[in-house]
Amino acid sequence: MAPWVRIDGDELPVEEARIVWSPAACAGEDGIAFWLRASGARSVVHLAGWAPGESPLDLDGCEVLIDSPGPDAGVDGRFLARVGLRFGRVSHERAVVSIDGEIEALDPSDESRAVLQADLICRVSPVADRDHCIGCGGPLDRYATTRDEFVAGFRISQRVLPVLCPGCTGTTERPRFCPKCGCAFAADAVSTHGEEGRIGYMARCPQGHEFSGALPG
Ligand SMILES: [Zn+2]
Ligand SMILES: [Zn+2]
Repeated sequence: MAPWVRIDGDELPVEEARIVWSPAACAGEDGIAFWLRASGARSVVHLAGWAPGESPLDLDGCEVLIDSPGPDAGVDGRFLARVGLRFGRVSHERAVVSIDGEIEALDPSDESRAVLQADLICRVSPVADRDHCIGCGGPLDRYATTRDEFVAGFRISQRVLPVLCPGCTGTTERPRFCPKCGCAFAADAVSTHGEEGRIGYMARCPQGHEFSGALPG
C-alpha cells in the first residue's frame, strides 16, 4: 500500500509522514498528545490531537475525532474544519493512519468544504527523549515542571525538562554533554553558528545523537 492524500479526490504525492508524541494529561486523565505531519514536495497535511493512554501503542485500533483542529492543523495551505483519525498497526516505530476530514475554503466567507481523505504510514517517535543536562550530563528528572497549553482544542498538561540543571544555568558556555544519552561531546564535535542574534550550537555525540540549538539565558 502506498501512502496517499486526496483532496476532493485529487491525489497529492506524499513522500514521508511522521507522528511525534508526548505524554500529556487532559482534565486529569493520562493521555498522549500527538502531532502528525505528512509532506511531499511541500508540507501536505499537519494536525495535532490528544487521546487517552500512556504510549502510542494505546492508539492501536482507536478512532480519534478532532472537532476543533484550530491553527494546529492545515492541509495544502488551508485549515481543517474537522477531522477523524483511525489508527492501526501501531508500534513504537510506526503507525498506519487513515484520515477523513473537511477542509475550509480559502475565502472565510465561503461555506463550502472540501473532502480530505488520506492513508498514511507514519514513523513514530517521542517529542523529547532527553534526560541529561547539556552542561554536566546529570539527570534532569527532578527539575521537571508542568506546562499547560491548548492543542487542537484540548487543554493538556505536559512535563517539561529544562536544558540545563540549576547548577549549570548561567555558568555553561557551550554544550558539553549529550542531552539524550549523557555522553561527553568531543571538543571538535561542537560547532557554532548564528541563531537569531545568539550563538547556536551543533554537536554530535559518540553515539550519533545530534544536538542543535542555543543555550538558554
Ligand atoms: Zn548541569
Ligand atoms: Zn548521545
